[in-house]
Amino acid sequence: MEEISPKKSELKKSCVNCGAELTYAPGTTELKCDYCGHTETIAPSENGFEELELKPYLEKMGSQKHSEEITMLHCKNCGANQHIEENYKSLSCIYCGSPLIIEDAYKEEWILPGAVLPFQIDQKKAFQIFKKWVDGLWFAPNNLKKAALDPEKTRGLYAPYWTFDAQLYADYTGQRGEYYYVTKTVGSGKNKRTVQERRTRWYPASGSVSGFVDDTLIKASNQKTGVIPQKIARWNLKMLKPFDSSYLAGFVTEKYTIPLLEGHLESNKIAEQIADSWIRRDIGGDTQQVTSTDMTLSEETFKHVLLPVYVSTYRFKGKRYNFFVNGQSGVISGERPYSFWKIFFFVLAILCVIGLIYLFSK
Ligand SMILES: [Zn+2]
Ligand SMILES: [Zn+2]
Repeated sequence: MEEISPKKSELKKSCVNCGAELTYAPGTTELKCDYCGHTETIAPSENGFEELELKPYLEKMGSQKHSEEITMLHCKNCGANQHIEENYKSLSCIYCGSPLIIEDAYKEEWILPGAVLPFQIDQKKAFQIFKKWVDGLWFAPNNLKKAALDPEKTRGLYAPYWTFDAQLYADYTGQRGEYYYVTKTVGSGKNKRTVQERRTRWYPASGSVSGFVDDTLIKASNQKTGVIPQKIARWNLKMLKPFDSSYLAGFVTEKYTIPLLEGHLESNKIAEQIADSWIRRDIGGDTQQVTSTDMTLSEETFKHVLLPVYVSTYRFKGKRYNFFVNGQSGVISGERPYSFWKIFFFVLAILCVIGLIYLFSK
């Protein structure tokens, strides 16, 4: 029997006291009313994570049980698909700042997230981290601080990722190399001396490796500009929670633009690298050559997960800049403009100092 359940993606909750929309309070398991301070606890999930079997998804996309409709806004400027749940007060693209029009919103299917990593730091804290960073920038134009530091512009985004689990098995053939040294005489006459030279003796090797590949993380956002930098794209996935749309309240959620199929190909490449490192360890010796690898993945499952990032977008002299703060760890990264004149005078000052030292040393 098909069970009719309420929509999991969009479950708006209003405050029982004043009717305002409740939003998720970072670092807690509560929804909070920004107006009267009323809080509500998000009930822990009874089901745990939903790891989905990969095969049926890849074979018949579109007819999935775990999909449902969600309201999306498409940015015509940069192509990001986003679901905005913040009372629609400032409707602009999280990546590029372009205005979005609520009338353009449309319903779209998405594979329900299997897990979400709730924000651990709030917007205020993220803004402080960001401000401290901007204040500490060397050679930044003076006007930058004014342009960048609008607290309203730092917004929380749940970025889409795929994670894959699989049982890996690989047969291999290769060679184990062991180092040895020979003593050689080089030079002639007065410069004659002996040196140690390294050589490798090779032995054939073959065997198999196997193991569980857990949580291979693949980004599912196809952004061309405003890409989340590798430096901050590290989260402690031990803190993932079973998906509950309550955690999305007050934040922007991006829909994946890299389809599952492509994400899976990417994860296969990573599985191949993992297999290679396991094989090399298995071969042992000082160095290894892997001649052939026959890898199979079985019991493959995947999850669509949402991970927290604060994004700040600002324009400076016609160019767009993005800053990112990891919503769990607070690590920051961003592009920044340099002031030509500040660097020019700094270099000039150094040259003067060098010049003076030179003169006095004479
Ligand atoms: Zn209230
Ligand atoms: Zn955009």
